[in-house]
Amino acid sequence: MHARRMHIDGIVQGVGFRPFVARLARACGCTGWVCNSAHGVEILVQHEDDDVLGAFERDLERSAPQAARITRTSSEEVPPEELSSFEIRRSQSDDSKSTLVSPDLSTCNECLDELFDPASRRYRYPFINCTNCGPRFTIIDDLPYDRSLTSMRDFAMCPACAEEYGDESDRRYHAQPDACFECGPRLWLASADETEGLAFDDGALIVDEPVLDRAASDALVREACERLRAGDVLAIKSLGGWHLACDATSEASVRRLRERKRRPTKPLAVMVRDLDAARELAHVSEAAAELMLDPARPIVLVEQREDSPLASGVACGLIEVGIMLPATPLQHLILHGLDAPLVMTSANRSGEPIVARDEDALEMLAGIADAFLGNNRRIVARYDDSVMRASDDGERLEIRRARGFAPAPLSVDGDSPVVLAAGPEQKATFAFLDGERMLVSQHLGDLEHLGALRAWEEARQRYERLFDVHPEVVACDMHPEYLASKWAREQARELGVPLVEVQHHHAHIASVMGENDLHEPVIGIALDGTGYGADGTIWGGEILIADRTGFERFWHLPVFALPGGAAAIKNPERTAYALLKTYSQLDDEFFGQFSLGNPQFAEFVEALENRELIDQMIDRGINSPACSSVGRLFDAASALLGVCAHPSYDGEAACLLEVAARRQVDDTSPLTALSFHEGLARAIINQALEAREATGLASVALSGGCMVNGILRSRLIEQLRDHGFDVHVNRELPPNDGCIAYGQAIVARSKLEE
Ligand code: ZN
Ligand code: ZN
Ligand code: FE
Repeated sequence: MHARRMHIDGIVQGVGFRPFVARLARACGCTGWVCNSAHGVEILVQHEDDDVLGAFERDLERSAPQAARITRTSSEEVPPEELSSFEIRRSQSDDSKSTLVSPDLSTCNECLDELFDPASRRYRYPFINCTNCGPRFTIIDDLPYDRSLTSMRDFAMCPACAEEYGDESDRRYHAQPDACFECGPRLWLASADETEGLAFDDGALIVDEPVLDRAASDALVREACERLRAGDVLAIKSLGGWHLACDATSEASVRRLRERKRRPTKPLAVMVRDLDAARELAHVSEAAAELMLDPARPIVLVEQREDSPLASGVACGLIEVGIMLPATPLQHLILHGLDAPLVMTSANRSGEPIVARDEDALEMLAGIADAFLGNNRRIVARYDDSVMRASDDGERLEIRRARGFAPAPLSVDGDSPVVLAAGPEQKATFAFLDGERMLVSQHLGDLEHLGALRAWEEARQRYERLFDVHPEVVACDMHPEYLASKWAREQARELGVPLVEVQHHHAHIASVMGENDLHEPVIGIALDGTGYGADGTIWGGEILIADRTGFERFWHLPVFALPGGAAAIKNPERTAYALLKTYSQLDDEFFGQFSLGNPQFAEFVEALENRELIDQMIDRGINSPACSSVGRLFDAASALLGVCAHPSYDGEAACLLEVAARRQVDDTSPLTALSFHEGLARAIINQALEAREATGLASVALSGGCMVNGILRSRLIEQLRDHGFDVHVNRELPPNDGCIAYGQAIVARSKLEE
C-alpha cells in the first residue's frame, strides 16, 4: 500500500473542493480522507499502485472546481493508515475563523443549464446556485461559513433542498445559499410612484409573501424587461449592491440616466448576455474573453467597434468600453429576456461605494429610477464591480479590485505581528497582513465623502471579526490630513501599538516588491496623481532607489507650482499655465517645450481667464504648493493641446489625452498627444538609465495611477526591457491607489524585522 499526504493551499473552501476530492479519489479506487486546514485542505490518499496516486495528483490540479484557486500544493510519502473507504472529515479548523472562503462566484455552467431547463425544479429561479457558485462574502455575517451566519438564515430550506444539501454526492452538498421557489429568496418590483409608505426591517423591504412561485416571479422579470425596452431606468438589486440599468443602445435612455444621476461624462459599464453579444459591441481578444468569463465576472475594458450599436453617451468619447457578463441568475434571466446590451452602473453617490440596503436605494434613487427590481435577501457587505483590462500581450491589469476578488488573500512571504494598513484617501482600501496572507479589502471609494468613510469603517470592523485579525502594528500614509491616517495615528495610540508612517510612492513601489517577491533594492518608478512627499510637497513623478524599508529620491519630475493645491485637479487650464510659467527656464529637450515662449501655446495663454490671479497666486506662493506629479502634468498637457480643459471626473483629462494619441493621424504640431506620451516615456527611461549607472541596479518596479495609461505603460515596459532592465509591475492589485494599503503593510513588516 502506498500513501501520500497532500496540502493544497488557496481558495479551496466554499467552492465544493472536498466533495470533488472525494469523488475523484473514489473514482480511482483510493482510500483516505480529506479535511479543511487553516490554509486550505489536507488530503490523505492511498492505493496499492503508486502510479494511481500520481494520476490522482495530476487530475486534482487539472479538473479542480472552476472557482477554486490553488496557490500551492505539496505532497509527501507517509505510512499508510488502516482505512476501508475515502471520507470527508470534519476538522477543528472547520470551526476556526482562519479558514478562507471564496469571494462571490458567478452562476456556474451547470446551474445555468438548469436555469433554462424546463424540466428542472429551479427552471427560471432567479437565485439558483450550488457548491460551485453563488453569493459568498456579500451575504456573510460571520465565519465559519455556515448558512446560519449568512443572510440566508432568513430562509428555512424545504425538504427537497435540505436533502440535496445533506447528500455528499449531490452538487449542492453543503451549498450554504441553496434555495428554490419553495423556500428561497423572491423578487419584488416597485414602480417609483408606488414606493410611498413601503415598510422596512433593518433596511430591508418587508414583503407580504415570503415566497413567490415561478409564474409570479417570471411576470416580474417580464415586466422589468418591458420597462427597459420602453426606455425606463431600472434599479436592480444585484450581488454586492444596487445597479442602475437602462437600454444601452438608446441615446435617450442613456441621456436620461446621466441627467438624473448628474454624471455627465464618466463612462458607464455595459452588461451583455454572452461573449458573442460582447463581440458585437467591441473587439474582444482571447485574453479579454478569458477575463470576462472569470468566475468573478469583472467589468473588462475593451475597444469599442466602429459599428457598435451602443449609444454614444455610454463611453462619452473614450475608445474603450467596459463590458461585463451576467454574474447572477437574475441578470441572466433579464439579459436573455431582453437580448440587448444594458447599461449596468453602480448605484452610488459620486465617490461613495455602491448602495446595498433597500431603504437607502429607494431613498437615494428616488428621481433617478423609474422602478425598482429588488429581492428579499439582504446584502450584508457591499462590493462594487471589479474593473480590469487585458493588455495586448495577454497580461491582466487590475484597475478596481472588488466583487469576486476581494478579500481573497494574497500570499506574502515572511512573518510578523498582525499589521493593519489604513490605506490611502482615494480609491480607499485597507489591508490586514497576518502571517503569509494579506487580506486587501474591496475598493471603498474616496474617504473624503462621509458615506465612503462609514463604509470603510464598517468593512474594517467586519474583516477584524470575520478573519479574527487584530492589529498589533498600524501602518498609514504620512499625509497629515488623510482621514485614514488620522484614524491610524489615533488607533495606534489607543492600542499602544507601533505606528509606521509610509510615504505614498514608497508604498506604491513596495506593493510591486511584495507582489513579485523582490527583496533586493530596486529602481522604483512611481508615476502617479498626487501623494504627500517626504519634504511636504506634492510628489507623483518619482524615481526612488528603494528597498522594503526605505528609499532615496533619485530623480523627480521638474517641480512646478500647483495653484489651488489638490483642487487644481478640477482646473487643468490653471495647472497648464502654472506649468508653462515654472518650466520656462528649463533646459531640457522634453520638459523645456512647456515654455511661455513656445509659440504653440501662445493662443492658449492669450485666451486664459483670470491669468493675473493665477500669476499672483504663484508669485506670492499663495496656496500653490510645489508639485512633481505626472498625473497633473497629463492634465496640463491635455489642456494645452486643446483636448480637455474641464474634466467632469478625476482622470478624464488624461484619459482623453490617451484617446487623442491613439486617434492621432498626421498632426504636424511640434508637440502632439502622441509625442507627449512618447517623449515622457523617453525622459523617464533616460533617468532610469542614469539610476542604473549610479547604483548598478537593473531591477525596476513600476507603479502609480498613470500606469493604467496604455500607451505610457507599454512604451515604458517594452523600452525598459529593451535596455536590459528586469521590469516588475503590480500583478493582482491595481497600480493606482488600490495597491497602497498592501504596500504600507509590506513596509511596516520589513521595518519591524529590522
Ligand atoms: Zn452553480
Ligand atoms: Zn427549496
Ligand atoms: Fe498614488
